[in-house]
Amino acid sequence: MKSMIMSLAGGREILSIPGPTTVPDRVLSAMHRPAVDIYSGPLVDLTDHCLAELRGLFAVGDGRAYIYAANGHGAWEAALSNVLSRGDRILVLESGRFAAGWGQMAGDLGVEVTTLAGDWRRAVDPAAVEDALRKDTEHRIKAILVVQVDTASGVVNDIPAIAAARAAAGHPALLMADCIASLACMPFDMAAWDVDVAVSGSQKGLMTPPGLGFVAARGRAFEAHGRADLRTRYWDWTERDGPEHYQKYCGTPPEHLLFGLTEALVMLREEGLDAVHARHRLLAGMVHAAVDGWSVPDGISCNVIDPAHRSPSVTTVLLPPGIDPETVRGAASRTCGVVLGSGIGALDGKGFRIAHMGHCNAGATLGVLGAVETALALVGIDHTPGGVQAAVRHLQEVTAKAG
Ligand SMILES: *Cc1c(COP(=O)(O)O)cnc(C)c1O
Repeated sequence: MKSMIMSLAGGREILSIPGPTTVPDRVLSAMHRPAVDIYSGPLVDLTDHCLAELRGLFAVGDGRAYIYAANGHGAWEAALSNVLSRGDRILVLESGRFAAGWGQMAGDLGVEVTTLAGDWRRAVDPAAVEDALRKDTEHRIKAILVVQVDTASGVVNDIPAIAAARAAAGHPALLMADCIASLACMPFDMAAWDVDVAVSGSQKGLMTPPGLGFVAARGRAFEAHGRADLRTRYWDWTERDGPEHYQKYCGTPPEHLLFGLTEALVMLREEGLDAVHARHRLLAGMVHAAVDGWSVPDGISCNVIDPAHRSPSVTTVLLPPGIDPETVRGAASRTCGVVLGSGIGALDGKGFRIAHMGHCNAGATLGVLGAVETALALVGIDHTPGGVQAAVRHLQEVTAKAG
């Protein structure tokens, strides 16, 4: 007789992909309302409120923030086009796929791209950055592009250390940071770290549907903006700095996404940013404990070798050669209703990704890890059982310490 239980995937699906992330019911509800006037009234105040909150999240000091009806790629183009000119040289710091992708976009715009080759399993080495900048004696490099978290490799880069490397080299290049997979997941302090331009998006740590791109800029970024010849009307900061609300979005504001974002910002305030960061650190610790627990030599393992280089928001898991990661993702989805991220870029077909960013808690994370361990056994992938237990132990230890 056929088993009655074909699948345990009913009930609410648990989405564990690194963007878009789970949108809280409160955010969804906040969006479910009629459209409002875009020229006057509450929406104008709402824009001011969102911009002020974003300035705080980026910690941009006396700099400015911009909201685009765009995804992260749009925010990338916004950042590049506002401060660079055709023929400028930039230095891209590789630690996975995303800084390189941002650099390619700059190349398409007519910027000359130099890449500091890196390793998909390690963070950018600040000493190598300092060395590369010292060699640029004529200061031809106008900007440095780096991601705080590379969502493909699962690497977290030490942005203040990279800024310190630039300072040590006495180099005037702008430092431009992609915080799309890290803002509201871990500390970011643009003014204190002396980052000139930063970008983020709505659909990861900010728990809002995809469609909003954010850029923050300060100090020398505006000097570069004055000279930049890549500026176009849609992205141009100067157009958006004017008093007219309509121009702040270069057209109709993405109202409903703004309603959702506002609620997400309330949720972040209620929890407190430090607590939000601590939660991400704890959930990441649980995932890392599980993957290290499953790990076998030349088999399943964490892509990022040094625990200090592992992102608090996403973990990339490598599988042994010859195993199709889709079998694991398929089993987790069919059997448990858990959707894992696939490997992308150089890790396409080599592993899968577990997101622990945004609206997630220890219960969901344990559920995801339980689904992975179930799938590993179902697919027959060599692993050490007990990863979930290691995650539970990590959770117990950290919460016991916290009292
Ligand atoms: C998701 C992501 C992007 C791209 O964002 P989209 O909204 O998909 O365009 C860029 N950089 C990083 C680090 C990301 O995680």
